[in-house]
Amino acid sequence: MKKTLTAFFILLTTVLNGFAIDMSQEINSATEKILPQVVEWRRHLHQNPELGNREFKTADFIEKRLRALGLEVRTKIAKTGVVAILKGDVPGPVIGLRADMDGLPVTERVNLPFASKEKTEYNGSQVGVMHACGHDSHVAMLLGTAEVLSKMKSKLRGTVVFIFQPAEEGAPVGEEGGAALMIKEGVMDNPKIDAIFGIHINAQTEIGKIKFKSGSFMAAADWFTIKVKGKQSHGSQPWLGVDPIAVSSQIIGGLQMIVSRQSELTKAPVVITVGKINGGVRENIIPEEMTMAGTIRTLDDQMQKDVHERIKTTAQKIAESMGATAEVSIETKTLVTYNTPELVGQMLPSLAKSVGKENLLETEWTTGAEDFSYYRQKAPAFFFNVGGMPKGKNVKDAAPHHTPDFYIDDSRLDVGIKAFCNIVFDYQPMGKTAGISNDKISFEILSEQTSVENYFSAQFFDVPFQPFGIKGVFAF
Ligand SMILES: [Zn+2]
Ligand SMILES: [Zn+2]
Repeated sequence: MKKTLTAFFILLTTVLNGFAIDMSQEINSATEKILPQVVEWRRHLHQNPELGNREFKTADFIEKRLRALGLEVRTKIAKTGVVAILKGDVPGPVIGLRADMDGLPVTERVNLPFASKEKTEYNGSQVGVMHACGHDSHVAMLLGTAEVLSKMKSKLRGTVVFIFQPAEEGAPVGEEGGAALMIKEGVMDNPKIDAIFGIHINAQTEIGKIKFKSGSFMAAADWFTIKVKGKQSHGSQPWLGVDPIAVSSQIIGGLQMIVSRQSELTKAPVVITVGKINGGVRENIIPEEMTMAGTIRTLDDQMQKDVHERIKTTAQKIAESMGATAEVSIETKTLVTYNTPELVGQMLPSLAKSVGKENLLETEWTTGAEDFSYYRQKAPAFFFNVGGMPKGKNVKDAAPHHTPDFYIDDSRLDVGIKAFCNIVFDYQPMGKTAGISNDKISFEILSEQTSVENYFSAQFFDVPFQPFGIKGVFAF
């Protein structure tokens, strides 16, 4: 029995070192305490939105709060980005948490005391500015997370890098920006981030819920331009020219053939949309040139490359068949937002305890895009949605993101903070977890001679093991 006990205590020590302590209760009460302040921050940011690469006041606001927490703060990363580093008292992994900071050129129509009245110049015209994608709530939730975790520094294992990223919605014409520029400026390298997490609030998901998807989650977005060159002629004599409008209409049809006839749609969806077409000056003149532009959405890296090739071939060959030429250019805006399945599996229990298992929902992939996708080139990544739709509201009545009526119920921003904090405390370097299933971590050591005498009931170890869903421990 003595031998058994010694063996058991060695095992117990190993297990406790290998697994994180469950901090969810402490996280819950610390989060509830600061929630009113987090909501205030969000409303302040909502009232003062700024466009991508112009988040000057937003960056100041973030910097001030991070410095007050005593964190190491780096500013002007990727133009207006802010990064803060929190080192826990116990050595461990480096975890990146990211929030985007930018608003959109949308004029707010929601009747709120803190509605935005901001105006600015965008591409040469005066526009309203609005946090019409909810990035204000992302900043507030990440600031709240920094505050909660700072106070738990003594129990924190490893380092947390808080990444406040500008220009998620795209940088102004001719400028670099967003996640790609943050990475280029070393945000993932110093210190080297082992895993990165991001949250997006969702106006069509009820508050108090988290939605996630393993693997491909959000689409890669590419923008394309096709310039069709024909030969100008009189509208009454088309045979004397080459009509680029007729060629373009065939190309538009041809592009949809790539989707419906050439893409493996059971593997992943594809969308090609022509959103802009310009050409011609007058009813009876066949113009020399037509330009069309659009977006491509794919959810698989290989299919993305394949669609690019097919768009070029389709446009060029159709143009050639009619004596015209087509010049195709494609610019990648985001990659596929891919959630590393092993990481998702590991973190689901942390999300479940943040909202309750019944409020953690698996979702479908979406053809929307996110530049968070770039971070997974450097480390395993997990991006998920937190609900922002008022309870009981019909999804059909909830205004979509990027519209003047976009609205977020900010009463449950605690969900994002709790999720981030639980992730930080529960994360284990990849490949080192004992065994993972969807909703529990089971840990079993079985000896060939297991007997009743050396079986320790789960009851006895309720306190240290319960957080991990451990049913029992066998000693030998
Ligand atoms: Zn957006
Ligand atoms: Zn967004």
